[in-house]
Amino acid sequence: MNYDLVIVGGGLAGNCLALALKNSGLKIAIVEAQEREILQTAAIGDRALALAAGTVDALKMLNLWQEIEHAATSIKQIHISDKGHFGKTRLSAETENVEALGYVITARDLETHIANQVLISENITLYCPARVVGLMADENAMFMSLKYHDESLNITAKLVVGADGGQSSVRQLLNIEQHFSDYGQTALVTTVTATRPHQNIAYERFTSSGPLALLPISTHDCAVVWTRKTHEAESLICDSETDFIEQLQECFGWRLGELKLSAPRRAFPLSLIRAESMISQRAVIIGNAAHQLHPVAGQGFNLGLRDVMVLAEMLQTQNETGDIGSTEFLKHFSRIRQMDLSRTIHFTNAIVHIFSNEWLALALARNIGLALLDMLPFAKTALARQAMGL
Ligand SMILES: Cc1cc2nc3c(=O)[nH]c(=O)nc-3n(C[C@H](O)[C@H](O)[C@H](O)COP(=O)(O)OP(=O)(O)OC[C@H]3O[C@@H](n4cnc5c(N)ncnc54)[C@H](O)[C@@H]3O)c2cc1C
Repeated sequence: MNYDLVIVGGGLAGNCLALALKNSGLKIAIVEAQEREILQTAAIGDRALALAAGTVDALKMLNLWQEIEHAATSIKQIHISDKGHFGKTRLSAETENVEALGYVITARDLETHIANQVLISENITLYCPARVVGLMADENAMFMSLKYHDESLNITAKLVVGADGGQSSVRQLLNIEQHFSDYGQTALVTTVTATRPHQNIAYERFTSSGPLALLPISTHDCAVVWTRKTHEAESLICDSETDFIEQLQECFGWRLGELKLSAPRRAFPLSLIRAESMISQRAVIIGNAAHQLHPVAGQGFNLGLRDVMVLAEMLQTQNETGDIGSTEFLKHFSRIRQMDLSRTIHFTNAIVHIFSNEWLALALARNIGLALLDMLPFAKTALARQAMGL
């Protein structure tokens, strides 16, 4: 089978790219390793995604938001504080003149909705369960060997997009080097019910042992993303529910009244992965395959969707005039993405390092920073715009 575009990985990034191009005239296939039932019940689907306002605008453009909006909760304010210190600041949708700073949705709801849209799109062929096991490019095409339902299958593409996540096999098969840093931290993810309503406020609380985010979901419920050193997270996940909630309450405080655990606790080890290059001959990698970030600033999918939107727009234009797999075209795409990528990675990394540090001078500096930020509307707007993905 010959395709114009083969996307490896039917996660958020891969599926959104296919849907963005479904009416482009390109012949598109998606190769996805996991069967749908497995994906829909996997623990990783429990994580809450904070979607920036810019991400929601992009999903609306793709007609992927309107039918799932009911499952999302708007963020009207972001409250940022530093436990045990004086610094705090608040970002507000009203001040920024927007309807919401962002939205929170359970990853599984969004992933399922988007995967359903792929299934009903006539122009997209889905190979599932299938894995790519070999890639070889020449001047005109990429030759791909797949393992599809235990059978071997060969297909070709003018361009292969690797959207197969942090452990990307496309990245490995293309021999693209990666920078990997282990933060030595693990994100504990769960849901709590609070006695006071959250009033659509997202809380980001920095503590000496790592950041804690409480993201608003239905009126009294909040999704928890609690980053701890890995050995502490391991012990917290084994603690009884009572001990766990006691420690969470101690860390977060009583702004929302008493917290009760309302979902299982899940652990996600955290690392930063950045591919040395986003491109190779007749191939490009996007989303987590190209950059896997710490969830502290909630930027991972937001950044991945910006890869998708830029690539989709460029592919539509290139398809009208030239070869979608040409080296010049791919280099152009990669150049365009570098600034956003570097800025988002540095922003996220800076937050991880500045706010996980109890060195007195740094603690003082960040608290002065937060206090100053609270008084400087322009600086707050700049931070809000980064958070909104604008
Ligand atoms: C705890 C936590 C909280 C987060 N919070 C936020 C947040 O608030 N906001 C935000 O924007 N982001 C957040 N993220 C990041 C976000 O979840 C990811 O950036 C996003 O899901 C990545 O999407 P993706 O499609 O690039 O990769 P993935 O979701 O990893 O999808 C990859 C797909 O490829 C498939 N695949 C893998 N290998 C192969 C293969 N060899 N062949 C074929 N298919 C393959 C997989 O089955 C999967 O379907 C968070 C992440 C974590 C862990």
